[in-house]
Amino acid sequence: MFPANQLAALPRVSLAHLPTPLEELHNLTRHMGGPRLLVKRDDLTGLATGGNKTRKLEFLMAEAIGQKCDCVLTAGGPQSNHCRQTAAASARFGLECHLVLGGQPRQEAGNLLLDELLGGRLHWVEKSQRNATLDHLADELRQQGRKPYIIPVGGSNARGVLGYVAAMVELMEQLEAKRIQVDHIVFPTSSGGTQAGIVLGATLCGFQGQVTAISVDQVPDCQVPDEHASERFLVAVCRVANGAAALLGVQERLEVKQFQTNYDYLGAGYGVVGALEREAITLLARQEGLLVGPVYSGRALGGLLDQIRQGIYKADETVLFWHTGDETALHAYRDDLL
Ligand SMILES: *Cc1c(COP(=O)(O)O)cnc(C)c1O
Repeated sequence: MFPANQLAALPRVSLAHLPTPLEELHNLTRHMGGPRLLVKRDDLTGLATGGNKTRKLEFLMAEAIGQKCDCVLTAGGPQSNHCRQTAAASARFGLECHLVLGGQPRQEAGNLLLDELLGGRLHWVEKSQRNATLDHLADELRQQGRKPYIIPVGGSNARGVLGYVAAMVELMEQLEAKRIQVDHIVFPTSSGGTQAGIVLGATLCGFQGQVTAISVDQVPDCQVPDEHASERFLVAVCRVANGAAALLGVQERLEVKQFQTNYDYLGAGYGVVGALEREAITLLARQEGLLVGPVYSGRALGGLLDQIRQGIYKADETVLFWHTGDETALHAYRDDLL
């Protein structure tokens, strides 16, 4: 099978507990009346409560260390799982970590609390100012003689994407060992790196099923549904996927039409918990004793449950829900959940 050699040749540090478990959701499958539901537990990657960014950080932190950087800068929302995992990874390697957070602090709970415990230095700005602030902060640090390493929002550049190419190789090995054929993979997408890596990995590994990402925050920028916003997003995702292919040294290149993104479950916007998320979170908790988060995995699971009810999946199909790990944020959404 592709690309074990190419992947192994690239610099990587160990941060995640791998492979993450692949589990059956027997009760939820029965409750929904099929299809067969599986979950890939990337909530258990293990870095200060885990999540999908840990896989990307294995490649990103390796580059930071290789470049002899002494501080790491990244950005996200007030309850960013990415920022929390970046703060933890930085602590592990003794690097100072600066987090540019867009918006207002909601509650000193969940990821924000952990950011502070992990030693992250917080910089609050307007959401639209995040990238400019990252550049500005990096300049300031350089003037002080520091060597900053900048990780874009979500860790979604070509190098970060490698984490999910590796994850797809890992999944294919698990499916082969357990002799399971998966027809659909479903997961949340936001900055797109996870999607880029899974789709690239699926292509390189010859995965035969469909890969569907459920968007949690690609709100079109006008009132009328704007196809161009989603098109722009997919062009960017495709570009980072091909950047990762180039880093791997493989010939394959992807096209935009190979990426499937669903925009039906944006609700009242990014990070706003509604009935969809509440139902999905409590159903999974009570059927399986398993937690999904309010912003990403709860919304994507809610979308998947809705698609099942619409009859989009056949009862004899197998659907894998890729849990990306954001239950830590539940603690900051108490009022919306109870
Ligand atoms: C960041 C994140 C995502 C989205 O991943 P992207 O690679 O940014 O698209 C999904 N789920 C969780 C829990 C996340 O923290």
